[in-house]
Amino acid sequence: GILRINETYDRPFVTGCLEPATELPRANAAFVVLARNKELDGVVQSMKSIERHFNHWFNYPYVFLNDGEFNETFKATVKKYASSSVEFGQIDKSMWGFPDWVNHEDAKEAIAKQGDRVIMYGGMESYHHMCRFYSGFFFNHPLLDKYKWYWRLEPDIKYFCDITYDPFIHMERHNKTYGFTIAVKELKETVPNLFRYASAYKRLNNLPSTGLWDMFAERPEPPVEEKSDLPEDIRKAQVKGKQADIDPENMEGEKYNMCHFWSNFEIARLDFFRSKPYEDFFKMMDKSGGFWTERWGDAPIHSLAAGALLDTKDIHYFRDIGYRHTTIQHCPANAPGKQLKREPFYHPEDLARNKKIAKSDDQYWQSYDSPKHNGVGCR
Ligand code: GDP
Ligand code: MN
Repeated sequence: GILRINETYDRPFVTGCLEPATELPRANAAFVVLARNKELDGVVQSMKSIERHFNHWFNYPYVFLNDGEFNETFKATVKKYASSSVEFGQIDKSMWGFPDWVNHEDAKEAIAKQGDRVIMYGGMESYHHMCRFYSGFFFNHPLLDKYKWYWRLEPDIKYFCDITYDPFIHMERHNKTYGFTIAVKELKETVPNLFRYASAYKRLNNLPSTGLWDMFAERPEPPVEEKSDLPEDIRKAQVKGKQADIDPENMEGEKYNMCHFWSNFEIARLDFFRSKPYEDFFKMMDKSGGFWTERWGDAPIHSLAAGALLDTKDIHYFRDIGYRHTTIQHCPANAPGKQLKREPFYHPEDLARNKKIAKSDDQYWQSYDSPKHNGVGCR
């Protein structure tokens, strides 16, 4: 008779391991890898990992970018590990380094001072340039013009689990803009004034506080009148004093909770970053000089832009992707989602079923990653 899948058998046990449905059409997408020649070993490790767990089935192309020139060893080696085409691009001065409108000496001095204060990467000029490039320019690199989607890859990362579906296609199908697997808290001293500007951008453009914005914004409790035996006028003065504690430049009294999507993994639509609102956002942040006077990472920049311009429904949390970068990792087996006994979000077998699960995924992401919980990994 027909062997039916029931409670007794695990699905893979009955059906056998599924080969990913590789005959399906591909998205217009590429891996983007910013790297230097000296990082070749780390790049190869990352490529081996993503090829083994995903790309040997899906064969997405790679775009390697560098402010310098890739040498022949680098190019020949990465080609060997790619199951698809590879392009190499150099980043020109318009996208890397100090722009004309900033005083280079002042900027260098500001950077050196951050070095003196031992702010992580604060004293490293190239790191500031890298963050600014990933914040405001990579998506306009000519080699990415033809693509609609990208997946960011860094040297020395690791994927743990097979990814047997196409995340681009599924994001497209579910109308997602930005996908992450890890959200963590930023080091405060790297971004003391970032939120002030992001918040001003939002206010100037009359943007509403979406659920996603609330993932990043902390609102202090409004001051309450405490019961006391003090005379009326003194109590009033106390409340006023507490109100003054709230940042006067930030009218809503919001503070950044330092949460951000960890951008060394990122799957997103390029047109979000190429949009006029994002460009305006970046320009405003950039003009403040914060990429040099502070050490703004591209991760909080991307996150706060998303917070200002998108909502939770536009974001996908890839809780099923096992990923590690340096000491921080996300392991699906330990993901909070497990408590809900959820199936993986995207199951390649059955698209109709997928749709249903996607709907509950939205609900899940909205309920779990609500301001109440302060975001994944940010609690
Ligand atoms: P971390 O992950 O924050 O510790 O920073 P990384 O050193 O990994 O840098 C982030 C990404 O930018 C990696 O893909 C690096 O290869 C790349 N990167 C950083 N600095 C430079 C640079 O000066 N030139 C180039 N071409 N790539 C860089
Ligand atoms: Mn890194």
